[in-house]
Amino acid sequence: MPIVARVEAGDSDFETSLQRGRRGEVDFESAWSLFSGASQRNKALELFSLASGIRDEKLGRELVLSAHIHMITSCEVSPSCLYCSLSSADRSISKERSRLTTRELIQGVKYAVDKGVQSIVLVGGTDLGGLDSPVRRAVEKVREITDIDLAIDVGPSLSQETVRWLKDEKVSTVYCSIETVTPSAFTKAKPGDSLNARIECMAMLEGAGVKLGNVVMNGLGSTADLLRSILCLKRFKSLSYLYISTFRPVKGTPWEGKRPASVWTSLKALSIARLVFPRAHVGLAEVGVEDPGNIARTPFQLLAGGGNALAGVLVYKERRINNMDLIRSCASSLGFETRYLTV
Ligand code: SF4
Repeated sequence: MPIVARVEAGDSDFETSLQRGRRGEVDFESAWSLFSGASQRNKALELFSLASGIRDEKLGRELVLSAHIHMITSCEVSPSCLYCSLSSADRSISKERSRLTTRELIQGVKYAVDKGVQSIVLVGGTDLGGLDSPVRRAVEKVREITDIDLAIDVGPSLSQETVRWLKDEKVSTVYCSIETVTPSAFTKAKPGDSLNARIECMAMLEGAGVKLGNVVMNGLGSTADLLRSILCLKRFKSLSYLYISTFRPVKGTPWEGKRPASVWTSLKALSIARLVFPRAHVGLAEVGVEDPGNIARTPFQLLAGGGNALAGVLVYKERRINNMDLIRSCASSLGFETRYLTV
């Protein structure tokens, strides 16, 4: 009898939290209730259905495909983050994330534009001392080729003056990912990086009037840490892109022996993120080097309320991944349209 009473209370918590989610009033307690309730399949489907409905209402069912080009700057964080492929002792892995030459950057951008992407994210490493000059040089080179929408992702490495310059160059979005808001989890995974610098940089970017992008990682702390990391971003009104990455051990890194994080956890967190940020582009992060199998998750993230900007092309030092056709075909079978540029 007492067990039945507890289950009924849990069901009612879940339904109350769904109603809060529908109204965009998600706090930690309701996020936790949604997450734990969704360990039951029928409740997970209810959560996904609500999140997808909100995505359809606020953003529609048209996907925008982008390219992620790695790396426009080298990463000076020392030691490298323990999960990152840059910390791999296997050179064939770490070199994929080494800085592109100007020629390689130009070739990568031309390749992405040729495939019809609608925007390009230029990804680089982090240098807490600043990366203004290499970022400006990279943007200038790209602008010689295309006026496509651009985003920059180099951590807290930009001055306010350069952010203003980037806006003039029609860079619409700047990412400065926190990965986790829990200081102990951040320091454990990223001993050479600074959470405070990342949060301060987000505030500076918002003040400068650019759109914000962020990635939080499932696997850096507990599930509660993951939910808190999503919720803490509510303070940034211009958050426009939020992706959830799923830790997967990379050969040769200090975290090689750690257990991979659960994609199911990431999908539930994605649905909750959709309720928190109804109008943002929300999805699973695409990281071809750390997590090569992730394109197969496209239908699941769309069903969980993800969209509407997905990475169709990934460019690395020696590898190019073109998922444009796979995403289009999967999207079309689920009733989505994809926009792309003709060149
Ligand atoms: S800051 Fe980014 S690129 Fe640099 S080591 Fe950490 S995860 Fe890798």
